[in-house]
Amino acid sequence: MAPLLRRRRRRVLLLPLPYHGHINPMLRLAAALHSRGGLAVTVVHTETRAAEARRILPPGCALVTVPDGLTPDQLAASNDVPAFVTALNRNCLAPFRDILAAALGEEEECVVVVVADVDWYAPLAAAREMGVPALALMTSNAARFRVYLGYPRLCEKGYLPVQDLHVMVPDTARHVAYADLLDRIVAGVRQSSGLILNTFDGIERADIELIRRDTCIPVFPVGPLHALSPAAPAPAQLSSDHPEDRSCLEWLDTQVQGSVLFVSFGTLATIDADELTELAWGLAGSNRPFVWVVRPRLVRGRDSVDLPCEFLKETRGRGMIVRWAPQEEVLSHPAVGVFVTHCGWNSTLESMSKGVPMICKPCGGDQLGTARYVGDVWKVGVRVGVNDKLREGIQVAIKTLMAGKEGEAIRNRMKEMRDVVSKCIGKGGSSDLALQELIDFIDLS
Ligand code: UDP
Repeated sequence: MAPLLRRRRRRVLLLPLPYHGHINPMLRLAAALHSRGGLAVTVVHTETRAAEARRILPPGCALVTVPDGLTPDQLAASNDVPAFVTALNRNCLAPFRDILAAALGEEEECVVVVVADVDWYAPLAAAREMGVPALALMTSNAARFRVYLGYPRLCEKGYLPVQDLHVMVPDTARHVAYADLLDRIVAGVRQSSGLILNTFDGIERADIELIRRDTCIPVFPVGPLHALSPAAPAPAQLSSDHPEDRSCLEWLDTQVQGSVLFVSFGTLATIDADELTELAWGLAGSNRPFVWVVRPRLVRGRDSVDLPCEFLKETRGRGMIVRWAPQEEVLSHPAVGVFVTHCGWNSTLESMSKGVPMICKPCGGDQLGTARYVGDVWKVGVRVGVNDKLREGIQVAIKTLMAGKEGEAIRNRMKEMRDVVSKCIGKGGSSDLALQELIDFIDLS
C-alpha cells in the first residue's frame, strides 16, 4: 500500500515593529491566522520589548527574538524615526535571515509566508530573496499609506518640506532622512506579494481602492484588527513602566452612564509641561468625572509627571489618574461618554468600534491627519482648535460634544459608526471577507 502523504505543517513568520501600537495589531492578526486560518505562527521580535510581546502573545503562537543592538531608551526616543527604523533594519537583517533559513530547513513544516510591518523593508526583501512570499502590514490607516505613496511628488512640487515662517533654517537633513525612509518602505511594499491594512471599507474604501490601483498588488483591508480577535489573556502588566490599573473599571461602575471622560494619549505621545497643566485645569473646569492616563513619560523630556496639588485637591473623587488603563475595556464601559485622545490609529479604531465620540488633541505624525478625518470627514468627534489655549479648547470641545445639538449629531454618528464596524467584521462583512481572502491567498502560497 502506498504510504499516506502527510501535509507539512504550514507556518507563518510575523515581524511587528517593537512598539505597542504596532505589536498589538500584528499579534491580533497572528491570533486570527492561527485560529481561523489553522496556520502555525511564529512571531519574530526584537530582543528589546520582547517581554511586552510575550505578555500579549496569543495562545498557540510561538515567539523568537532577534538581537537589535538598540537600548530600550533608543527605542523610546520617538523623535528620530528614520534613524531608529534604519538601525533596526540594519541590525536585525542577518539574525532574521538565520531564523528564516532555520525555519526553511525544518522537515515537518514549511514557511508559507512572512508578514512584516511595512517599516521592516530589509526583512521583507530578505524573505523574497529566499523564495518566501512576503506580505507587508500597515498598522496605520490607508490615507497615511497614500501619503507615503505621494511623498516624492509632494516634494517635487515643493509642498514638502513645509515652509514654516517661524523657523529660519528648515530642518532639511531630517526631511531628507524621512523621504529616504519612505522611499525604502514604499519600494519594499511595491515588491511584496500583498499589503494588509488595519482599516475597513466602511471608512476608507476610496483610499483602499487607490492604493490597489497604484501598487498593483493584492490589498487586504482586514481591520480593525483588535476587533477581529479578542485581546490575549489578561496582560496583567504591560511593562514595569506601565502597570495596568484595573481599579478604574470598578470606579467606572460607580459612575452615571455616558458621563465620564476618558483621557489617554497612547504609548509614546508627549506634551509640554505647560500643556499638561492646561489640560489638567481644562478637565477640572469641565466639572465632569474623568479617568486620565498619565504615563510617567507623558511630559516631553521628563521621566515623571507632577500634577499641580491644587488640581488634585479640586478633582479628588471626581477624577481618577492611572499610569496605564485597560483601554479597550474602559472604552467598552457604559459610564464612558467621551474619549479625549491623541488620535493614534489604534485608539481611533477602538473608539469607533465601541461607539465612543472623540475629542482630538493630536500630538504629531499620522495623528494630525487622523484627527482631521475624525472631525471633518467621518464627523464622529471634534478637534481641539489649534489656536485655542488648551484649557479653553478642551472645555469648549467637552461642552460641544456632551451637550447641545451638534454634540447629539456627533454622538449619533458615532453610534452608527459602531454598527458599521460591527457589520464590516461580522460574517460576510468586508473585513471578514478580506481576512478570508488573505487566508486563501496564504493557503495557495
Ligand atoms: N493603551 C492601553 N492603555 C493605556 C494607553 C494605551 O491599553 O493606558 C493601548 C491602546 O488601547 C492602543 C495602544 O495602546 O491599543 C495605543 O496605540 P495608538 O495607535 O492609539 O497610539 P500610539 O501609542 O501608537 O501613539
